[in-house]
Amino acid sequence: MSALPSHLELVQGIVLPKPVGADPVLDFLNTRADWSGRGPARSEWLTGYETLVIWSGHVGLLPDATVFRLIEQASAHPTDASRRFEAALAFRADLYDVLTDTSGSAAAFERVARVIERAAGRRQLTALSNLHGVGATWELAEDLNLPLDQLAVLAGDLLTGPQRAQVRLCAGDACGWLFLDPRGRRRWCSMATCGNRSKVRAHAARTR
Ligand SMILES: [Zn+2]
Repeated sequence: MSALPSHLELVQGIVLPKPVGADPVLDFLNTRADWSGRGPARSEWLTGYETLVIWSGHVGLLPDATVFRLIEQASAHPTDASRRFEAALAFRADLYDVLTDTSGSAAAFERVARVIERAAGRRQLTALSNLHGVGATWELAEDLNLPLDQLAVLAGDLLTGPQRAQVRLCAGDACGWLFLDPRGRRRWCSMATCGNRSKVRAHAARTR
């Protein structure tokens, strides 16, 4: 068996990109390669609802038991599941436009905002008891909407928070991946892929 490229890994039998975005929302956008244009991706790692759920578990957004139950629900309601999956892909494309500020991002922003508002509206404030008495936490229902709702709520936090200003686009040619760059020093999604390719090119140019 040939080894996987260094930016990919095998998760429950599925090839997924390694998280490099330092933020699950950015890693969600990095689940396809080559964002130049909305045509078919050079590589698309989210191939269906089940993959989306497994990916969510992999990046720590869903506990294993929830991943398992959502996959069961999806196989019982395949039409619903594929509708939720298509909605997630549309949200991913719109959010990418918003974060990279491409032409048409005003329309994309409106669509992103509606998805985030709907997801935020579905949250329930749930009482939490802990050592010191009481607290509360926002919870989303465990149904087929959960993976997208969760990403949408987090996207809302990203867009409205201080980390919005730290979102950077990888400097690699035709890469298009995004990551957080809190210290303003990061250029590559990963040194092993885009960083190396650029070093090799610069070296070739110097020695030509
Ligand atoms: Zn890159």
